[in-house]
Amino acid sequence: MNSPDGCKRIYVDNAATTKMSKTAINAMLPYLDGIYGNPSSLHTEGQRASEALVSARERIAKCLGCTAREITFTSGGSEADNQAIVSAARLGERKGKKHIVSTAFEHHAVLHTLEKLKKEGFEITLLDVHENGLVTPQQVADAIRPDTCLVTVMYANNEIGSIQPIAEIGAVCREKGVIFHTDAVQAVGHLHIDVQEQNIDMLSLSAHKFHGPKGIGVLYAKKGILLSNLIEGGAQERGKRAGTENIPAIIGMTAALEEAYEKLDRNTEKLTVLRDKLISGLSEIPHSILNGDAKHRLPGNVNFCFEGIEGESLLLLLDDKGICASSGSACTSGSLDPSHVLLAIGRVHDIAHGSLRLSLSEENTEEEIEYVIKSVKEVVEYLRGISPIWRDLVSGKKEFMIK
Ligand SMILES: *Cc1c(COP(=O)(O)O)cnc(C)c1O
Repeated sequence: MNSPDGCKRIYVDNAATTKMSKTAINAMLPYLDGIYGNPSSLHTEGQRASEALVSARERIAKCLGCTAREITFTSGGSEADNQAIVSAARLGERKGKKHIVSTAFEHHAVLHTLEKLKKEGFEITLLDVHENGLVTPQQVADAIRPDTCLVTVMYANNEIGSIQPIAEIGAVCREKGVIFHTDAVQAVGHLHIDVQEQNIDMLSLSAHKFHGPKGIGVLYAKKGILLSNLIEGGAQERGKRAGTENIPAIIGMTAALEEAYEKLDRNTEKLTVLRDKLISGLSEIPHSILNGDAKHRLPGNVNFCFEGIEGESLLLLLDDKGICASSGSACTSGSLDPSHVLLAIGRVHDIAHGSLRLSLSEENTEEEIEYVIKSVKEVVEYLRGISPIWRDLVSGKKEFMIK
């Protein structure tokens, strides 16, 4: 990757967004240029767009293991999360069920939707997350009550990469007759997913997290689950999501998803090697700790806390060295609040502030990983050298929290 001034850049922020694949771009081009009809139009141009839409829906359904009718196109992961949760809440409300179970480390698209429902009188139970970033099916089982209308647990965490026991949580929900939604935005295209085998009733995905275009996503909702409209208007998406379909983006997403599935095993193998090399390199930094489970972890995710470091300065100095990284969620960067995910796994404020997330793609190379390790070591050492907090720690005035 080259910056506008031609310098080599290393992109390790793929959990924030990914570069579009050539396959996805090429698949989109005819729909940006030639086939621009509105799929609702009766003329030939419209019908060609409509055929493309029908085919894309079927191909996506095939990737997820569901039927085309169960697919709703949305503007992305956030909208899919909102629509899933609001729909389940409205269905529950009608039966007098106003309790929802989720976790403390969900994406804000989930947490803020739950907060909105709370103001309407819903009761929300947010499960504690273990230090390794996992919740257990037993925790979910214990939290479900007779008035629970929804369980929503993310598939893989966007900051610390931990992968939840989704099939088992789904089985608990099935047994208790509660709708199970999972925000799978970080998982789709990166892990094997089958909504039927894994007992998933609703699932959100977003194309730009697997080398597809931005502003397009999918909500899968199992047959029989009535969706609520977030957007009123035309009859698109069976009347559940008005607005002329974004055909080029839908086609790009479909191509990106099929490509991701095709390369999944190969990419997983490659990424796991790069990830583990990066983890072992960064573990050599004294007073550092890996966030998230070492085993149940996305193949491209690395997340560390370094004691005595301020995350923002770390990012800026890495940027100077040509490295695009993140302190956690793209949504919270820019604010001074520490990550709610790191707080949820029990990191104290000061430690959570010194976090670094590196999220890899199959385009990264061994040499890049070596350069990243070397650079992070240098920057951490430099920042500690000028930090008064670090001086207090070394002199014994304050006690180290990370051994
Ligand atoms: C990126 C992300 C979202 C939001 O998806 P958008 O398409 O950007 O709206 C939701 N959940 C998770 C876990 C994400 O990583």
